[in-house]
Amino acid sequence: MHIAILGAGPIGLDAALAAHEAGFPFTVYESGREVAANVRAWGHVRLFTPWSMNLSARMRNRLGVGTPTTSDECPTGVELVQQVLSPVAALPDLAANLRLGTEVVAVSRAGLVKSDEIGTGARSNHPFRVLIRDAHGERVEPADVVLDCTGTYGHPNPTGDGGIPAPGERGLADRIERRIPDVAGSPELWAGRSVLVVGAGHSAQTAVTDLQALAASSAGTHATWVLRSPAGRIEPIENDPLSERARLTARANEILAGGSPHVSVLAGWVVDELRPGGDAVVVILRNGAGRRRSVEVDRVVSLTGSVGDPAIYRQLQVHECWATSGPMKLAATLLGEAGGDCLQQTSHGVAVLESPEPRFYMLGSKSYGRNNTFLLRVGYEQVGEVFDELKASTASVPATTSATATGATGRGDE
Ligand SMILES: Cc1cc2nc3c(=O)[nH]c(=O)nc-3n(C[C@H](O)[C@H](O)[C@H](O)COP(=O)(O)OP(=O)(O)OC[C@H]3O[C@@H](n4cnc5c(N)ncnc54)[C@H](O)[C@@H]3O)c2cc1C
Repeated sequence: MHIAILGAGPIGLDAALAAHEAGFPFTVYESGREVAANVRAWGHVRLFTPWSMNLSARMRNRLGVGTPTTSDECPTGVELVQQVLSPVAALPDLAANLRLGTEVVAVSRAGLVKSDEIGTGARSNHPFRVLIRDAHGERVEPADVVLDCTGTYGHPNPTGDGGIPAPGERGLADRIERRIPDVAGSPELWAGRSVLVVGAGHSAQTAVTDLQALAASSAGTHATWVLRSPAGRIEPIENDPLSERARLTARANEILAGGSPHVSVLAGWVVDELRPGGDAVVVILRNGAGRRRSVEVDRVVSLTGSVGDPAIYRQLQVHECWATSGPMKLAATLLGEAGGDCLQQTSHGVAVLESPEPRFYMLGSKSYGRNNTFLLRVGYEQVGEVFDELKASTASVPATTSATATGATGRGDE
């Protein structure tokens, strides 16, 4: 039974370890030129969770002595990559099955489209077709199980009101930074500039506090912080056990309360339109009363969240939540728990990871859809649960990648 693992982030790599341990042949497809491309993209940011929560038991076992397994310190993304994720990827049994620079474009079933074999159970008799694109072009590879661990970070939400692009936004795409900027690492890009930051989550809080710190020593640096909510305050988690997170929220709230001369706060405003203004960007904002105002800035940083790419599984029978875009059963469970501290979470069992599409699983941050409370620890638990299920089910079910297993029935015309 061949397993296609899409994405070599922390969860895809852990799934590869689990596949190897269980004796399943597997291939890991990673679009980046190196593993953990998304974690590298925010590598300068310090995680809220300590080393002890950021490795799976499988990683600890394979990396052995010297791995920072129990420390209470919080690593940066780069430290996590250098000390754990790259060494895991370099293990010979993983490296041999890892395809870097290989993007998964789409996944389907041989001979079937989405609307075929609804509820008959016959889809599992048709192997998956994984369309990949690498330096040599495009081709299709078969698989019996697909684990979609492609994350969300590569698919940021637009900046405009209501989550759609503001008029002019797409034309100015190259002038909008959609990743958490490394302000301390590349101060020359930000010093002396005016920057408009859109968003209220931890990423926006990080960007604003970093810009504020730079502004204290670099004359002319100024941030305008645009938040959708008029509250003008981030609700802290009571007695937050993650001190890095508590510190960030406290600093952000000081700024929101007017504590920095280098940051102007516009709470209760949304982005209505973007226009080029020579070297600057003109941002038209609107508030709840319908009043409009414009701000001219050197740079725009849009950190309005992200959600995984649904195009990969468009031809599969994946039941998505209408509100979060995560797989329905998991999303319903998470919505039922809404408001709780993400630290209290555990995985919710393999049943909530299942969709009508047999043997297709969305794991890791992508499985949480728009819900931003995902923790690595939960993803590692998901991996364990799926592999327990696969091991149990393969004891009785034959593999399907042979050419004789592809005869399709009940096709539509799509
Ligand atoms: C700034 C930030 C801080 C965070 N801090 C914490 C924290 O403190 N503690 C914690 O537990 N969690 C934290 N998280 C949440 C979460 O743990 C991380 O987002 C984590 O990286 C998710 O791992 P993943 O493997 O699911 O996805 P990702 O790390 O996003 O990995 C997905 C991989 O898939 C690849 N990929 C994407 N599309 C394709 C494709 N089509 N084909 C092939 N490959 C593809 C990407 O290049 C990437 O390597 C944080 C997230 C962010 C953004």
